[in-house]
Amino acid sequence: MASPKDITTPTRLGSKMVDLVGIGKQRARLFARLDIHTVSDLLRHLPMRYEQHAHEGAIKQLKYDTIGTARGVVQTARWVAAQGRGRKGRFEATLTDDSGTLSLVWFNATYLRDKIHPGLAVRVQGKVKSFNNYPQIVNPKWEPLEEPDATPQRQERLRPVYPATEDLPSSVIEHTVAEVLPAVLPDVTDPLPAGLLEHHAMPPLAQALQWVHAPDTLEDAGAARRRLAFNELLLLQLGIAMKRAYVQKRLAAPGLHFTDAIDTHILARFPFKLTDQQALAVKQIAADLTRPIPMNRLLQGDVGAGKTVVALYALLLAVADRHQGALLAPTELLAEQHHASISQMLEGANVTTALLTSAHPPKTGGERKQLLEKIANGGVDLVVGTHALLADHVKFHSLAVAVIDEQHRFGVMQRAAFRDSNRHAKPDPDGKRHVPHHLVMTATPIPRTLSLTLFGDLDISTIHGLPPGRTPITSRVVMPAQADEVYTYLRTRLERGEQAYVVVPAIDAAGKESAKQLTNVRDHAKLLQDKFCRGFKVATVHGRLKRESREKIMGKFRNGEIHVLVATTVIEVGVDVPNATVMIIEHAERFGLAQLHQLRGRVGRGDHGRRSLCVFISDPTTEEGSQRLDAIASTTDGFQIAERDLQIRGMGDFFGTRQSGLPPLRVANIPEDMELLQLAKRDAQTLIDTDPFLTSDKHKPLRRVLMQQYGEAMGLIDVG
Ligand code: ADP
Ligand code: MG
Repeated sequence: MASPKDITTPTRLGSKMVDLVGIGKQRARLFARLDIHTVSDLLRHLPMRYEQHAHEGAIKQLKYDTIGTARGVVQTARWVAAQGRGRKGRFEATLTDDSGTLSLVWFNATYLRDKIHPGLAVRVQGKVKSFNNYPQIVNPKWEPLEEPDATPQRQERLRPVYPATEDLPSSVIEHTVAEVLPAVLPDVTDPLPAGLLEHHAMPPLAQALQWVHAPDTLEDAGAARRRLAFNELLLLQLGIAMKRAYVQKRLAAPGLHFTDAIDTHILARFPFKLTDQQALAVKQIAADLTRPIPMNRLLQGDVGAGKTVVALYALLLAVADRHQGALLAPTELLAEQHHASISQMLEGANVTTALLTSAHPPKTGGERKQLLEKIANGGVDLVVGTHALLADHVKFHSLAVAVIDEQHRFGVMQRAAFRDSNRHAKPDPDGKRHVPHHLVMTATPIPRTLSLTLFGDLDISTIHGLPPGRTPITSRVVMPAQADEVYTYLRTRLERGEQAYVVVPAIDAAGKESAKQLTNVRDHAKLLQDKFCRGFKVATVHGRLKRESREKIMGKFRNGEIHVLVATTVIEVGVDVPNATVMIIEHAERFGLAQLHQLRGRVGRGDHGRRSLCVFISDPTTEEGSQRLDAIASTTDGFQIAERDLQIRGMGDFFGTRQSGLPPLRVANIPEDMELLQLAKRDAQTLIDTDPFLTSDKHKPLRRVLMQQYGEAMGLIDVG
């Protein structure tokens, strides 16, 4: 059934979905929502499993104390509220097929009220228990079935089941793949060297694509998925290894002079003794800095862990050897804070510091020009600033150490920009380009599972725990119905002279209908001022305010003129107000786990012995939301939260985030594919050892695919 379009535009791997026969704009948009834009994306959208109806048990055949799967039609469904304040309740349902009845219970799952109802056909899976002589599954995994007919069909062919959306069901994806696959398979060339495939006994790429989408056996499907996952991981590891090779072969940094006397001298500047963890980080960094190879190190530690002094140590090592240091912060406020505390520690020392942001020094008048000159001629040793530091006209005399705080707030390109800061200098006789050492810092730690194998181009130092003398924060999750009690209690805290943040998701009631339901800054501030906090000063900050107004309000909050600050997440980074001891977050289910943790980190900063409190007000509408709140309430350890976040969101979500600096994975799953990852890592290293930039004829196809798929995401553009 060839349409004219079919003849003029043959389907290729690079074809856009919208250009395929039978796919209109609207359906293309549905595919785009699954991040499928081209045929190539479509082929990398793999089935999550294959339908095997014959294996699915009838309810009557479910065995107690084993994991069972059943499908059937929901007969009853109801929410049972628990007795007692603060407790939630459970969602109960019964499921039947033609063999029997299965009872289902989900605890605290209020969100199921809108999802599961009588008449719905579902598949459930979980540990089967006996309850009143009925089989029962507690907290089963579940999914709605497309066809209401719940009787298992006996069919021979394995049917792929794709990750899908409500509007784009798996069957449509299956159909589209089946149409496209035969047309493009002849075009598929295999970038992997043949020897490598033979060695691992993996199928060629075209074969693997055929098997994964339309397998004859589950073994074939498994082998195909493995091959595709390996492909992806190998490219990723090649990218990482290539970057590292690039740094070692083409770049150089000053090997800094370091002695015990310098160490003692720097430590004497700090108003406290370093914790063991800080001392270890300092030691690792000092070792890196003495080498003429650019350091590329990540310093991770929770909010308040004490990363700044470690960074300052590195900066002062540069200054001690007559070079310069720079500290880059994501916000104006944070830059100012760093500059203030660093200047304080360096009072009376022979070190010149300066602050450079887009506002400071002012653009008019000679002060800014003078500062830029000093930075360029070495008249300033240590510069603290925002991304204004990265501007083209900012030239350093001899920048040896660059520190980037809260690195996940910057893009890959910005992080790389310091590499260019010495671009005006002459290259070495041996042709190496001179760059500063890099230290990046983050308060959203990278889960251990990942850091061990994935961050090959980054060395990692970690500060666990907080410095001595902090009072822990109390965390509470409450339902919206209890908000009044929370705000009434807030008043007691205010009366004791303490201050509070209240974080809400919206700025005002404008916008989409769904957004109108949300608590917003304007209305909420008015409510608090009029009802709960009369006699105290309530103010607002949000992202739509001009920077100057925002800073002014923050300043007033810091010196105690404002008692309650109602804000959006703009306060997430950079404010340090020790007297603020209460954090209340409305609609907490709408924020990410890392974000909630960062917000909570805004309190508990004083050493005044008062116990800080963080209240999460929430009625989660999804299972994920509910899991996030359980996690945030159960620990204040950022590392545990990061691991939990990873479990909840899955690894796929982590890749492709700014924090990871890595492209998203479509096929491979970490940690399940850990063994495959090790394999890929080894192979990648061998390849890069023999051909660092994959320029030989044999490796050119690999290089092309690597650049095409990952070049931009991994910042490989100027490599090789
Ligand atoms: P973060 O890791 O979030 O950047 P900071 O560097 O801002 O944390 O440190 C948080 C607070 O802890 C600061 O007030 C700092 O002075 C203090 N601090 C850091 N290290 C120590 C230490 N070893 N002993 C006591 N206080 C410390
Ligand atoms: Mg910090």
